[in-house]
Amino acid sequence: MQANPGDARRRWLPHLAVLVGLAVIYFLAGKLGLSLAFVNRSVTSVWPPSGISLAAILLLGYRVWPGIFLGAFLVNITTAGSVITCLGIATGNTLEAVMGAWLVNRFASGSDAFRRPRDIFKFAALAGGLSTAVCAAIGVLSLAATGYADWAAFGQTWLTWWLGDGIGVILVAPPLILWASDRRVKWKPHKAVEAVLLLSLLLVVSTVVFGRWSHGRNYPLEFLSTPVLLWAAFRFGPRDTALMILVLSGVAIRGTLAGLGPFARSSPNTSLLLLQLYTGTVALVAISVAAIVAERRRSEWQLHETERQLSRYNADLEHFAYAASHDLQEPLRNITLFTQLMADQHGKQLGSEARTFMDHIVEEGERMNAIIEGLLKYTRLGGSDAIHFELVSMNDALNRAQENLGAAIGDSGAQVHCNGLPAVRGDREHLVRLFQNLIGNAIKYRSQAPPLISVAAHRNGQEWIFAVSDNGIGIDPRYGKRVFELFERLHGSHTSGVGIGLAISKRIVELHRGRIWVESQPGAGSAFKFTIPAETEQSFIV
Ligand code: ADP
Repeated sequence: MQANPGDARRRWLPHLAVLVGLAVIYFLAGKLGLSLAFVNRSVTSVWPPSGISLAAILLLGYRVWPGIFLGAFLVNITTAGSVITCLGIATGNTLEAVMGAWLVNRFASGSDAFRRPRDIFKFAALAGGLSTAVCAAIGVLSLAATGYADWAAFGQTWLTWWLGDGIGVILVAPPLILWASDRRVKWKPHKAVEAVLLLSLLLVVSTVVFGRWSHGRNYPLEFLSTPVLLWAAFRFGPRDTALMILVLSGVAIRGTLAGLGPFARSSPNTSLLLLQLYTGTVALVAISVAAIVAERRRSEWQLHETERQLSRYNADLEHFAYAASHDLQEPLRNITLFTQLMADQHGKQLGSEARTFMDHIVEEGERMNAIIEGLLKYTRLGGSDAIHFELVSMNDALNRAQENLGAAIGDSGAQVHCNGLPAVRGDREHLVRLFQNLIGNAIKYRSQAPPLISVAAHRNGQEWIFAVSDNGIGIDPRYGKRVFELFERLHGSHTSGVGIGLAISKRIVELHRGRIWVESQPGAGSAFKFTIPAETEQSFIV
């Protein structure tokens, strides 16, 4: 099969365009940097190409290295030095970007380095400190070996080169990488106004510190930029903070070169070195703070999402339980009914053993029906329209609960005492059910003596505490919490209980923004207590 030359061209052309584009950008940024070269025509403390080339490899891959090499060679050959010198420098510059990118990819999460403060510091140390030191050494060696730099000034030249490249990495790579990874600006109008205010304040502050106003004063006011950058970090995130720092750096370099601001010294190179150290440090701190804030926001959002998902699963599960219970109810009723009919009509012919079995079937059927009824009530309480608030007299609620329990109270000889209860904002039907469950249990779990039940309430700050106390068999305090869980039964053999009543009671109380608990000892009776917020002063004792 013959390779299609058209295909190869289509593949190569875009890549070639990227390489040429990168070389041009590198060249222009390099020329800008070298226009601020003071110790040697080829060495400057302001070197944005180091950040550009690192960002290019991290974003586009190692294969863009020829563009960096070409740009570096051209910028140097058009400035000073022989072809050999410039090839040496270009090799150093290319190695710096490749090595820096490899280290960041390997140890600092690559182009995701600005998501976590730990990676930001690794990025600064490895790409800003280590690979730039190697490049500075190769560059100064190339210059000195070919006679374009003085061996005696090796140390100072290397330091200027290293700092220039290092700060270039820290200042220029983050905004490029962050903006390339996320270019969307989804600000609401108030956020856009805030961004304009922030940028204006930054310009005002940087002009005050580094502009004409500071002429002759040279006050150490550089700290004034800190609150502005923190504002950016807290409200806008790493991407916009990195851009703000670039703006600050531009204004600061311009002012410092004009002999203005806190870093202006007699030597422009010293002034720029001091300024670059300051801007680099501020950038590192501000971007780290922005990353911490962004990380926290992400965790909060994740937590919120998990919570939402959980409650959705919960709702689905409850919906399933509701549907299943509902569908089971009808056949179960029929089984119980027909068994009952059979026992009534044909019981004599079938004999006593068969009758006993049928009684068991009816009993179990009724029990299962009670479980289903309970589950339906429980799941209904989870719905969004589960509660209808109104002013409810708790005395009325208690009276209705007693009416509903008429037979159980009569059969057991129970006595219910109450000296008056307040009114609360709540759901009348649910509050009747709550009393019904608690008094019903007090009757079910009675001791030998007839049940004595007292219902009382007292105000505790912003809430009412209600207590339903009995003289029954009591509960071991170890199980005090468990009894409120679904299907938990402590006295299994004691009654026909199914373990849903207290779970329903807990839900009802929680729907009223209250708490429920039990105070009890085995053999010493129980006091079930629950709170309901006392929201209005209209609450009264009737
Ligand atoms: P059920 O009564 O249907 O079993 P509940 O959820 O109402 O279900 O109660 C859960 C368990 O708590 C009961 O099985 C019982 O062991 C215990 N319990 C509830 N109320 C009392 C009480 N007043 N005295 C003693 N034990 C109680």
